[in-house]
Amino acid sequence: MHQTGPATRRPIGAVRRRQRRNSFVLQLCAHDMANRPTTPDVSLTDFQSKIRTMYYDKDVQRGIDGTFMWLMEEIGELASALRQGTVEEQSAEFADVLAWLATIANVAGVDLGQAIQQKYGTGCPGCGRLECTCPMDEKP
Ligand SMILES: [Zn+2]
Repeated sequence: MHQTGPATRRPIGAVRRRQRRNSFVLQLCAHDMANRPTTPDVSLTDFQSKIRTMYYDKDVQRGIDGTFMWLMEEIGELASALRQGTVEEQSAEFADVLAWLATIANVAGVDLGQAIQQKYGTGCPGCGRLECTCPMDEKP
């Protein structure tokens, strides 16, 4: 956690996992849905733009190197949350990691939405399929 970059936000709603046959189904509690302030379908481009509005001047002063260190710290916090955190804590850490990634992209002048569309928009960059068929021992 820190003061000058993307802040840790409370998770919008708790996510409950339920196993059905061999697949996990994510379900939002009805209570959480009622309290949800906005639609959960936020575009990456909108999110990056929001992060730019909130932090760009500070982010540029800090620079890519300093910002990258914050990203790495947040990834460490995500690792801790995945090991022993609640779903709410994990959600908050995922949000922080995405926020710091968006911050670095802003400083580097990279449009995240465009970047993922170019690289993954038509399928796996390795095999070109929507359901990856690359061998397990290869990085796709
Ligand atoms: Zn593949």
